[in-house]
Amino acid sequence: MKLTLPRRVYDAMLAASRAAAPLEACGLLGGVDGVVEQFYELRNTDAAAEHYNMAPDEQFAVVKEMRAKRLRMVAIWHSHPVTPARMSEEDLRMAYTPDVVYVIVSLADPQAPDIKGFTVEDGTPMPAGIEIS
Ligand SMILES: [Zn+2]
Repeated sequence: MKLTLPRRVYDAMLAASRAAAPLEACGLLGGVDGVVEQFYELRNTDAAAEHYNMAPDEQFAVVKEMRAKRLRMVAIWHSHPVTPARMSEEDLRMAYTPDVVYVIVSLADPQAPDIKGFTVEDGTPMPAGIEIS
């Protein structure tokens, strides 16, 4: 699976990640056929540096909006303020949404943010390509 990210979405995700640091930022990406069109940041109710939980009421509202715009939820993103762009044990445990790309923005090197995508099957992360357009 591959994800195409418009530059403006990448920039918005990076800005949200930097603004939330040292806590994790999180949200959803809406699109069609792996091409992202819409960026959403959701409140991390965990307010933690090493895990996240998207506010259920906001998640509900965003899914409803995506449906109205005929977009699918193509990705779930979150930031890693100090750790690499890898799925953590906790991330894998919480990765129960099928057919989405899990996107992680790592700020471990503040000068060179890293972004990676994964699909998860049976608890195993598989790399998913991300192309910034
Ligand atoms: Zn994580």
